[in-house]
Amino acid sequence: MRKPKLIISKCLNSEKCRYNGQSYDDKVISLLRKYVDLETVCPETGIGLKVPRNPIRIEKYDDKYKLVEPSDNIDYTSQMMEFAEEFLSNIDDVDGFILKSKSPSCGIRDVKVYPKNQKCSINKKGQGIFSSKIIEKYSTIPIEDEGRLKNYNIRDEFLTKIFTINNLKCENSILDFHNKNSLLLKSYDEEIYNDLNNIIIKENMDEDDKTLYKNKVYEILNNKRDKSKRLNLIKNIFEKYKTYLSKNEINYFSNLLKFYENGKIPFSSVIVAIQIYATRFDDKDLLNQTFFNPYPIELISIADSGKGRNL
Ligand code: SF4
Repeated sequence: MRKPKLIISKCLNSEKCRYNGQSYDDKVISLLRKYVDLETVCPETGIGLKVPRNPIRIEKYDDKYKLVEPSDNIDYTSQMMEFAEEFLSNIDDVDGFILKSKSPSCGIRDVKVYPKNQKCSINKKGQGIFSSKIIEKYSTIPIEDEGRLKNYNIRDEFLTKIFTINNLKCENSILDFHNKNSLLLKSYDEEIYNDLNNIIIKENMDEDDKTLYKNKVYEILNNKRDKSKRLNLIKNIFEKYKTYLSKNEINYFSNLLKFYENGKIPFSSVIVAIQIYATRFDDKDLLNQTFFNPYPIELISIADSGKGRNL
């Protein structure tokens, strides 16, 4: 069975390739190791820099960004660009990236930018030279850094996307994929979900239809699931159970939804409650939906950096 394929910064995989000879033991990556195929890359050692080495940084020259070793005033920009192009041209079938935050080579959004020959960085933060090439080439698959993945919501979104992409690649029948993932896809964007439905209802889907369907799945996953979309879906599901429930049960569930709406409980509490009803009424179609378990349960961790857990 295929697993999601991720490319990650080598130093996040406990490999001592940082400028100071150190590495990181990243918890999310340790957790993921069993469930995904990991490929590592260190662009700085990839261009021939040694371990340990002098630190390098991003410098801004007019409107251009350069990768520079300030102590010896060496410009590595062209070498890094060439390495990135060569590396990316040899990548096959990748589903996502986890890159090292703040690195002038790997950082995706929070890299310090310095004016030429100055000690203090400017206010604006940027991308690393290597990662900017990844972002340019891969606009449809998730790219995150290990710092952002400490946030529960961002991690949940990232894992959901990479495992859904993997499901799409593994499933022999697009119709089966659609049926199992319908609620999840709907929770991203109803309009694109309707486009997917219109493709799937064709009697004989040809290769063009299948390609269009797959591209639309990537498009839908580029959206964000928000609270109101999720609430509407749950309310619709609950509607069909209501007639079998007592007034107290209905009130209890309505209060649960209000708690969620007001940020008092996480979405997972609502999911558990609706799963209990789906189990009680033996609603197999619903229980099969990836909406409830979009990625292996072992990867669920409530660890959070403290920002916005309650999506
Ligand atoms: S951040 Fe990127 S370039 Fe720096 S040590 Fe890690 S993998 Fe290598």
